[in-house]
Amino acid sequence: MFDINNIIRQNIKTLKPYSSARDEYQGEASVYLDANENSFGSPLEQSYNRYPDPLQFEVKKRLSEIKGVPPKHIFLGNGSDEAIDILFRSFCNPGVDNVILVPPTYGMYEVSANINDIAIKHIPLTEDFQLNLEGIAEAIDEKTKLIFICSPNNPTGNSINREDIETVLANFDGIVVIDEAYINYSRQKTFIQELTEYANLVILQTLSKAWGLAGLRLGMAFASEEIIEVMNKVKPPYNINEASQQLAVKALQNIDLINLWIRETLAERDKLVLELKDFDFVLDIFPSDANFILVKTTDPKGIYNYLVSKGIIVRDRSKVELCEGCLRITIGTPEENITLIQTLKKYK
Ligand SMILES: *Cc1c(COP(=O)(O)O)cnc(C)c1O
Repeated sequence: MFDINNIIRQNIKTLKPYSSARDEYQGEASVYLDANENSFGSPLEQSYNRYPDPLQFEVKKRLSEIKGVPPKHIFLGNGSDEAIDILFRSFCNPGVDNVILVPPTYGMYEVSANINDIAIKHIPLTEDFQLNLEGIAEAIDEKTKLIFICSPNNPTGNSINREDIETVLANFDGIVVIDEAYINYSRQKTFIQELTEYANLVILQTLSKAWGLAGLRLGMAFASEEIIEVMNKVKPPYNINEASQQLAVKALQNIDLINLWIRETLAERDKLVLELKDFDFVLDIFPSDANFILVKTTDPKGIYNYLVSKGIIVRDRSKVELCEGCLRITIGTPEENITLIQTLKKYK
């Protein structure tokens, strides 16, 4: 049985969190002399002289409407990368605990584990990029705190079988983190609806991909109230700046445009796959549920360098386990995709 008291770090459990001026007085007032801000204003058209809302209420209200979860189940980070780091700092004892990663997958889990001095157990995906359930079951020990599953997975592009994820959720007493950075492009539905079913579930999403806001740095975690409370306690008090909060609230009104871009991206992905198949240096294109495709080629380095020389940058993943020969190509605008294909036609 999952019990947060069994997995939270002792020092975090007893931590007295920082209490900001905004925590100590939350009403409306006409004169604020409690936070050592500059009351004169900012040297800009818009003023940013006041500290932002530490719990980002307006952004969460909007997200709550879109995602169908109450704000109490939402954590906001300075990118998902901050949420990942905070999960390590909240639940994993440095030099003692371990986490399970299922490569090939997103690189930040490993970097964050290393920064926090947390041991990693690697249980590679199967040949068809699915979970090795037996391997995961065998690797779990009493010091295993987190299992990261990225679905749709970066860099392979496929979704992980839902039943397999549910098997892990049901049989692990630590936290299962499902990274849904690419969920808006996926045929699979989000796990957000399963939050009531699994107390050990954390879902990561981001405004960096389909929402087109990578520069704002806004990542989300969805989880039980008790997990969100721990994460809020550990995060820096003002981790989402005022400009990002305001722009996010504004951007989140434009869901129709985002849905249009998603449909266009998927149509472009299908077109690109058909065109790439015709090249004799393309050996395989893996089925994608994301806004990128993993393409197996005869000469990844040569193609990569050729494209760079023409001003087109893709990601060389050929040194990654199970991705030998592969380039990862993001789906661009129709014009960018035409440029890519025209350029590849002149290769060699
Ligand atoms: C791009 C990406 C993210 C996004 O990270 P941010 O810090 O929110 O920009 C998270 N997870 C995966 C798997 C990604 O590919």
